[in-house]
Amino acid sequence: MKIAIIGAGFGGLAAAYDLRNAGHEVTIFEAADYVGGLASGFKEPTWDWWVEKFYHHWFQSDKSMLGLIKELGWEDKVYFPRPYTVLLYKGKWYPFDSILKALLFPGLGYGLNKIRFGFVGLYLRLTNNWQALDKYTAHEWMQKYAGRQVYEKMWEPLLIGKFGPYYKDVNMAWMWARLKARSTRLGTFEGGFQNFANMFANKLREQGVVIRLGAGVKSIEREQAGLSVISDGKSESFDQVLVTTSPSLMARLCPDLPKEYLKGLLGLKSMGAVVMVLALKHRLSEQGYYWLILPKEAGYPFLALVEHTNFLPPEKFGGDHIVYAGDYLEVGHEYFSMNDGQLLERFIPAFKKFNPAFDRDWIKKIRVFKTNYAQPVPLVNHSKNIPAIQTPIDGLYFASMSQVYPWDRGTNFAVEIGRKAAKMIMGHENRRH
Ligand SMILES: Cc1cc2nc3c(=O)[nH]c(=O)nc-3n(C[C@H](O)[C@H](O)[C@H](O)COP(=O)(O)OP(=O)(O)OC[C@H]3O[C@@H](n4cnc5c(N)ncnc54)[C@H](O)[C@@H]3O)c2cc1C
Repeated sequence: MKIAIIGAGFGGLAAAYDLRNAGHEVTIFEAADYVGGLASGFKEPTWDWWVEKFYHHWFQSDKSMLGLIKELGWEDKVYFPRPYTVLLYKGKWYPFDSILKALLFPGLGYGLNKIRFGFVGLYLRLTNNWQALDKYTAHEWMQKYAGRQVYEKMWEPLLIGKFGPYYKDVNMAWMWARLKARSTRLGTFEGGFQNFANMFANKLREQGVVIRLGAGVKSIEREQAGLSVISDGKSESFDQVLVTTSPSLMARLCPDLPKEYLKGLLGLKSMGAVVMVLALKHRLSEQGYYWLILPKEAGYPFLALVEHTNFLPPEKFGGDHIVYAGDYLEVGHEYFSMNDGQLLERFIPAFKKFNPAFDRDWIKKIRVFKTNYAQPVPLVNHSKNIPAIQTPIDGLYFASMSQVYPWDRGTNFAVEIGRKAAKMIMGHENRRH
């Protein structure tokens, strides 16, 4: 079969791997001039490792990703350091990377609240029945079972930070998935995620997959038998097509999709993200914290400060200290239209709060990355609103971050859904012949 994949993120690359291994002719169309999608990175000439544009790491529970890396024979290139995640409360930092550590958080109060928090945490870690939680908002469920104080001090700030105006609408299964999949050790690939994506793409090329970079697809149209992909003013025929872009882009690429399916795609909600990456001369968090969670109410101009070089040594980056300042925002938020200098002016006063010695001189370089599609928002009964991977158009498939539910988006789940879509495409072939 002749198969087109739209997008060379981890979902598209993983699907290509299985389809090619099964002997199909695979072409990947990628709009950018690099592979890796949202997990891609950049590198300064003095750095040995790539830095992800948006902070990225794996959890030890990321079975699909770690399984794929093992199949590729690259498991010796995976590192799992143990960095420190902390949450701000009344001007002080508290450990926040496991239920046990979170039990020490003073915002919980004492006595009954701690017991309720412990039981709720344990229940969520042990239960597999996420379907029962899909019907409730995290806002109501957490207040009911963990108690108002625990919710307000611990979970509400996280929901507000990640989902902004939708925070009261996010369902409890999302929260379950978040707690279920986390680990205290966090993983990365030698050279960064971009190095992995490049190695994977090279392997695919060796196997005969054609990867066309800078090849944005304009539309996908139905033909008498098969589908045509229109890119660069040219039309090319394929037996099957897998799209791995955002749902709204999928709707634009394939206006021939039946109304119901289009409505489903366009009804999905998501948040965008704006992330500033700074290369500094000195370490910002002298305590060595990696991930600093900042409740919106604390008044910081971003949600998270992530000091990458408290996860990986600065020597990998020519001695530079790499810091991310990022936020999840609705598209249309002023940060999307501010230039790098304006954003820096907004962020600079906050850096002093992490380290009073911080000075503008410390900044060697800044880069700002923005994306409209960063975080799907799962509303109540989301399980009933997920678009099917196999679309109503014969031979057309769709696999995106919005469909990995109940799991939260992540490269692990991009690999999982990409490989699932590949299986469905091959099952389709069996039915046809
Ligand atoms: C701020 C942030 C932090 C994150 N943190 C983590 C983390 O710590 N760990 C983790 O595992 N994951 C993390 N993720 C999520 C992870 O990046 C995604 O889940 C994953 O990369 C999605 O892969 P994908 O292949 O589904 O989509 P994408 O990576 O979005 O790939 C889609 C590809 O399609 C291409 N494309 C778009 N339109 C067209 C077109 N018209 N024609 C051709 N090509 C097109 C795009 O350029 C892109 O390369 C994070 C994401 C964000 C935004």
